[in-house]
Amino acid sequence: MFNALVVEKDEESGQVTASVKQLSEDVLPNGEVTVAVEYSTVNYKDGLCLSPNGGGLVRKYPHVPGIDFAGTVEASSDDRYKPGDKVVLTGWRVGEAHWGGYSQKANVLADWLVPLPEGLTTRQAMAVGTAGFTAMLAVMALEDHGLQPGQGPVLVTGAAGGVGSVATAILANLGYEVAAVTGRPETGDYLKSLGAATIVPREELNETTKRPLESETWAGCVDAVGGAMLARVLGQMKYGASVAAVGLAGGAALPATVIPFLLRGVNLLGIDSVMQPYENRVRAWKRIATDLPMDKLEAMVQPATLGDLPQLGADILKGKVKGRVVVDVN
Ligand code: NDP
Repeated sequence: MFNALVVEKDEESGQVTASVKQLSEDVLPNGEVTVAVEYSTVNYKDGLCLSPNGGGLVRKYPHVPGIDFAGTVEASSDDRYKPGDKVVLTGWRVGEAHWGGYSQKANVLADWLVPLPEGLTTRQAMAVGTAGFTAMLAVMALEDHGLQPGQGPVLVTGAAGGVGSVATAILANLGYEVAAVTGRPETGDYLKSLGAATIVPREELNETTKRPLESETWAGCVDAVGGAMLARVLGQMKYGASVAAVGLAGGAALPATVIPFLLRGVNLLGIDSVMQPYENRVRAWKRIATDLPMDKLEAMVQPATLGDLPQLGADILKGKVKGRVVVDVN
């Protein structure tokens, strides 16, 4: 028997309830690798999966959410993994279409796993989690498109959230001057402790403008917010600079013009963590182990248990979670 956070739906009322239950292994979905999960976390998408309609992501109830986890292989029918191996899983619609990491046990496909990178513990891997992994993918994409320290400030939007906190710490550690956008002024000291050089109040970028181009300000941008803020930022990018579009915490619409692309050669780089190919996953996790200072990562962590998850899911959708939640499922 093992514990998991199970979300159930009452077919008559449509009401969804989440509670910690004891399950037996025979209810686990089929898979090639059985993992004894040690840690999971709370990402924005987890908030959606825990919400009343499953955020449109969950297909079937009862459901075990948790879009990522780290743990130890217990059994494997695939040659790439053996009992005792430490592994990390992010993406592949685990926790949405498939049972996820809010459980002491998981059965998954070997293709979905990545060996735990050297130098990281399973707890640290989940302090990073999907949010931090995606932040690293965004930084790599900006670098691949020519971003280097010394070119000017790099903007991080939604900075006090999960993606934003990790992006801020990585960029500052790599020598970039980070301008952190937040709607929570009280997180200013926290963001500075992660390495932000300046704090940009959210209101400054939330308003739309009729001007398609403003002063060339940012050498790069990791954007977790989307919506009107992304549209505004595009018009403030330096010539030839890139924005890595990661999230939609502020909305999915993009009320922008094509002028920044045509007159300033600005690049809008899409970042997807879910279907990311294996080689790039390994590359990103290696970079996390070398480029994200572990003391900064620890400063982002808020510990939690399975029982805390329904509340934390609601909180993250309201933009109330600071940094990264680490869920000890045991
Ligand atoms: P968090 O909730 O931790 O962070 C989002 C942050 O955005 C908040 O903390 C807040 O930061 C800011 N924010 C919230 N609402 C608004 C608003 N209305 N207007 C402007 N800013 C707002 O979530 P995550 O970091 O886990 O995820 C961030 C986004 O990235 C989500 O949209 C998520 O779906 C997406 N994502 C995408 C991935 C991909 O593969 N492309 C992978 C992982 C995440 P502050 O308080 O500092 O202003």
